[in-house]
Amino acid sequence: MAAAYDSGNIFAKILRGELPCNKVYEDDRSFAFLDIMPRTPGHTLVIPKAPARNILDVAPDDFAYAMRIAQKIAIAAKGAFSADGITLQQFSEAAGGQVVFHLHVHVMPRFAGVALLPPASRKEEPEVLAEHTRRLIAALA
Ligand code: AMP
Repeated sequence: MAAAYDSGNIFAKILRGELPCNKVYEDDRSFAFLDIMPRTPGHTLVIPKAPARNILDVAPDDFAYAMRIAQKIAIAAKGAFSADGITLQQFSEAAGGQVVFHLHVHVMPRFAGVALLPPASRKEEPEVLAEHTRRLIAALA
């Protein structure tokens, strides 16, 4: 049987406003914010507002909508960071690489010849995250 959604996860707390984040986008069904340990400049996480642990339990429409917003962020991020490409990732369950159990899609700007940093390598400086947030918000406007 699939594991149950736990509303105590970090991203649920961010959605409830109990923890801070660098928000770049929000609408009635989705929310997007910068990863605090970016693997590339502009690394953004897109999440549905509806509770879902991962791709194994998310309602198909909620997943489709999150992907629609991931595309919107990808296009904005490519411009905002003058990226050469974009990588999307989504991990489901610990064995699939998932660490935070609220469904999220990673949107990562890529630069020719530059590898991604390994996951959770380093926490970015708050002022750098703030500047990247401003850039993405401006590109989304
Ligand atoms: P994963 O569950 O493996 O897809 O990855 C979870 C991601 O969440 C990692 O890239 C972390 O750097 C990121 N992360 C963890 N805590 C926070 C937080 N409070 N705000 C933003 N990103 C976070």
